[in-house]
Amino acid sequence: MSTSVREVSVFGDAIQYFNEAAANLEIDEGMRRILTHPSRQVIVSIPFQRDNGELEVYTGYRVQYNFTRGPAKGGIRYHPGVTLDEVTALAFWMTWKCAAVDLPFGGGKGGVTCDPTMLSQGELERITRRYAAELVEIVGPDKDVPAPDVGTNPQIMAWFMDTYSMHVRMSVPGVVTGKPLEIGGSRGRVEATGRGVMLVAAAELATLGRTLKGERVVVQGFGNVGSIAAMLLEQQGAIVVGISDVTGGYHNENGIGVKSAIAYAQEHHSLDGFRGGEHISNSQTLELPCDILVPAALEKQITGENAARIQARLIVEGANGPTTPEADHVLQSRGITVVPDILANAGGVTVSYFEWVQDRTGYFWKEAEVNERLKDIMETNFAAIDAMAKTRNVSLRTAAYMTAIDRVVKSLKIRGIYA
Ligand code: NAD
Repeated sequence: MSTSVREVSVFGDAIQYFNEAAANLEIDEGMRRILTHPSRQVIVSIPFQRDNGELEVYTGYRVQYNFTRGPAKGGIRYHPGVTLDEVTALAFWMTWKCAAVDLPFGGGKGGVTCDPTMLSQGELERITRRYAAELVEIVGPDKDVPAPDVGTNPQIMAWFMDTYSMHVRMSVPGVVTGKPLEIGGSRGRVEATGRGVMLVAAAELATLGRTLKGERVVVQGFGNVGSIAAMLLEQQGAIVVGISDVTGGYHNENGIGVKSAIAYAQEHHSLDGFRGGEHISNSQTLELPCDILVPAALEKQITGENAARIQARLIVEGANGPTTPEADHVLQSRGITVVPDILANAGGVTVSYFEWVQDRTGYFWKEAEVNERLKDIMETNFAAIDAMAKTRNVSLRTAAYMTAIDRVVKSLKIRGIYA
């Protein structure tokens, strides 16, 4: 493995959360060693032709972290910052996320180091097809099932599915999730992660006898997860006072008006120039006075440097890994509740699971049925993790990891180790 956990790395941080939770469980050293190593890390070269005829080579990754409970499952990220270390951390989190909400999947993640905003549709299609072709042997409905993540979308999933299907000479919709409805996508998938964020925020407030009505919310990141979480929170009566994207933050104490912000972002491809709030910096956005903060951009946003200045009382992690372990300790000592990523943003993979089931049975559900089943899974697992946090006197994050690790360890023990 080229990623050392001793480096200051995303994976190194991720392992710290695992270790803190594992310390509360009776797991022997050998088991820990297995679970802190990825099963498989693949690096591929992606030669592709630019629209101007020039040949370029990008690098792609797929990490299959763990297969104990089923096929690897996890998104594909297109971003200039993608590294093997980051993809490994994301695949690691997927393992615990799938187990935290009790899905029959392991964990995986992929990525291509590129800036999709600088690529034409044709270039994106050629990169995606070559990346998919390089992974043909290791992905598939029973092996590893990718999905969208930062910088990828249903169209990219469609190209991936088509390329795989061409290689194996039959149509295989279940090789990826997050596809367009026309080719085997699930109703409700696009909204699923944001919906899950809203559901767990409501569930956490319910434990305090409160509802979302009147809660002041700030959302960092205005892509798939952030924009939909903001919209659904607003629909439940919350007041979204701050939003942000890569162009900066927008603050309005009377409420941003999420619908108009979404329409603006769709038309202009970002919030740049949005007039529904005062323009502030990204760091100011995170530190705005509010009740609920939803980081929904990238990892390492709440750090030892800014954690003391966060004013929210509740943080619901829409993004993967937005809080560093150092920041997590500061937030805990300040009594700020954090609903951790592996639970809070599990709505996406849950509806991906529904999509995989629908593709394999060839029978598609109504949106209301998808949303009802999603609600059930999010609320049931939130309640179990919240109960564990209270009985063991640990944070929700540690309880979520403990629940997930316990499920994976039990499965691994029953299967046995082929050593
Ligand atoms: P996306 O590409 O749709 O959106 C990302 C957003 O973050 C964009 O609005 C971008 O402008 C913004 N952003 C980037 N850097 C920023 C910064 N420094 N400050 C503020 N905003 C910034 O991606 P997404 O699918 O919404 O994913 C967001 C996060 O949620 C990621 O951590 C991802 O891994 C996680 N996640 C996504 C899903 C899913 O179903 N898409 C599921 C679970 C978790």
